[in-house]
Amino acid sequence: MRIIVIGAGVSGMVTAFALTSAGHEVEVFESAPRLRAGGNGVMVWHNGTAILRDLGVDTDGLGQRIDRMDIWSHRGRRLMRCDTAALAAEFGSCGTALMRGALMRRVAGQLPSGTVHFDKRLTRVDHPRTGGVLAEFTDGTTVRGDLLLGADGYRSAVRAQLFGDSPTPTGLSSWHGATRAPIDLGDEHAALTYYGPGAGLFVVHRVGDGLTHWAFEMRWRGGPQHLGVADGRGHPDAGAPGTRLATLRARFGDWAGPVRETLAAIEEEEIAVAPHTVHRIQSRWGSGPVTLIGDAAHAVPARIGMGVNQALEDVWVLTRTLARAGDPVEALRAYERARVPVTRKVASRARMMRFVNPALLALRFTRDGLPSTSMLRASIVSGSNYLGGGRSGPVRAGS
Ligand SMILES: Cc1cc2nc3c(=O)[nH]c(=O)nc-3n(C[C@H](O)[C@H](O)[C@H](O)COP(=O)(O)OP(=O)(O)OC[C@H]3O[C@@H](n4cnc5c(N)ncnc54)[C@H](O)[C@@H]3O)c2cc1C
Repeated sequence: MRIIVIGAGVSGMVTAFALTSAGHEVEVFESAPRLRAGGNGVMVWHNGTAILRDLGVDTDGLGQRIDRMDIWSHRGRRLMRCDTAALAAEFGSCGTALMRGALMRRVAGQLPSGTVHFDKRLTRVDHPRTGGVLAEFTDGTTVRGDLLLGADGYRSAVRAQLFGDSPTPTGLSSWHGATRAPIDLGDEHAALTYYGPGAGLFVVHRVGDGLTHWAFEMRWRGGPQHLGVADGRGHPDAGAPGTRLATLRARFGDWAGPVRETLAAIEEEEIAVAPHTVHRIQSRWGSGPVTLIGDAAHAVPARIGMGVNQALEDVWVLTRTLARAGDPVEALRAYERARVPVTRKVASRARMMRFVNPALLALRFTRDGLPSTSMLRASIVSGSNYLGGGRSGPVRAGS
């Protein structure tokens, strides 16, 4: 089949890899002039790394294995601890932190040359009478395919044409970056999160290649109209250029642990701002030969650490439904039916995460924090068709 993918983010690139490997003729159309391989560090949980392995993506040496996830108060009291190495033993695949761009470059290197076309901004999707689907771009060119997959991010043009809706800002943003400074984490394989008053949060972990990802969460009062302006700069809460580091130091300067060390090490130019958004999950993600993948279908805020994982789940389910169904359009609807209930659970949990600070700070258990591996396990499984967390029943590897 000839498959058009719109957008060369993680979702589009992994989709192209999986469907090319399955024997389809895939082309990706990206609005930017080159791969947008910058951006944030991400935790790819055990389901995500297992999916990458099962799809055949070579991830050797990519990122940093995470064996522990500790949650602390801003005053340096351990609140929770999760043994992610134990989950790796159970699921047969470890949690890995990596830079989003590093994963994209790795997948790009495993695609046939000429798969990705740059400077191609989709304007419209059409359904010709002769069948299939037609994509139109701002440069006046068109391309025809049997299926079209909108992997064009949280402000998706494909989604806008289908539903005309936009994602809702949650009221928070991540001020984030990556540094080569040697910040002491105590354990090279730990991911550390600090919760403070209001909705304040700091997260830090290695992401491989000598880099450490760090992120602070701040209030962001912009509306949907402020989204999409580069770096959230359309709103004063994203901080005027040149003032961001001072803002972070004023807000988080008295926090415990590696927070102060990070604030001393990072530089103004490293700070990117990403407003958090969440989509209302539609009950169908497309019509006819068109559907959505990744953030285009279900953007969730960074705090839940699930965006890339959910995109990988999409790719895994879609690849399997396309392989099984005789009718490719029916395969798209089967994919949506499997994914909608799972992504709804993730989105509703993501909405609640904004309000967890007071409850977490009130936790008073042992000096070492509440053992919470089973809670993390439940959260990963319920957000995973791969691990059998879908209401419509597991779609398991090998089944
Ligand atoms: C600070 C931070 C931390 C995060 N942490 C985690 C984490 O720990 N775990 C996790 O799983 N996720 C995390 N995420 C979320 C994750 O990064 C995103 O969910 C994921 O990168 C989305 O990928 P995507 O390919 O769907 O969309 P995008 O990366 O937005 O890619 C969409 C692509 O489509 C292109 N495009 C847009 N419009 C058009 C058009 N009209 N025509 C053609 N091309 C178009 C864009 O240029 C872009 O290249 C985090 C995000 C942030 C900001």
